[in-house]
Amino acid sequence: MSKETKTLKVMARDEKGHFIKGGLPWNTGTKGVKSSTSGSFKKGDNLGEKHFAWKGELAGYLSKHTWMNRTFGKPSECEGCGATKAKKFEWANISGEYKRERSDWKRLCTSCHMKMDGHAYKMWETRRSLQNV
Ligand SMILES: [Zn+2]
Repeated sequence: MSKETKTLKVMARDEKGHFIKGGLPWNTGTKGVKSSTSGSFKKGDNLGEKHFAWKGELAGYLSKHTWMNRTFGKPSECEGCGATKAKKFEWANISGEYKRERSDWKRLCTSCHMKMDGHAYKMWETRRSLQNV
C-alpha cells in the first residue's frame, strides 16, 4: 500500500533569505548570472539583486522597483504603518500591474511590504499548516 505523500512547496530564497515570489527555481537550467541584456543593469547599481536569476517575471519585478527608486527616489517613510526609522523602505505596487505611475505605488517598510505582497503570510500559513498536521 502506498501512502499519499504530502508535497510541501519549497520556496526559493535569495541569499539574503528573502523568499522569491512564486518559488522560482532559480537554480534550474542555466547556471550563473545572466547578463546578456546590455544596458538594463549597471554593475554595482543593484547590489545583491544581481544574484537573482535574471529571467522572466522576477527580473521584471525587480527592475520595476529599481525604476521607481530612480524616478521617485528611495522611499524614506512607510505609508503603511507610518514608520520613518525602519531599516529599509521599498516601493510596493498597489494594483499588481506595475504601472509607471506614482499613484500605483506605495512607500512601505520591509515588513509592511512583505505583508502586502503576501510573503510573510505565505510563510506563516506554511508554518501553521505544518504544525496542524
Ligand atoms: Zn510599515
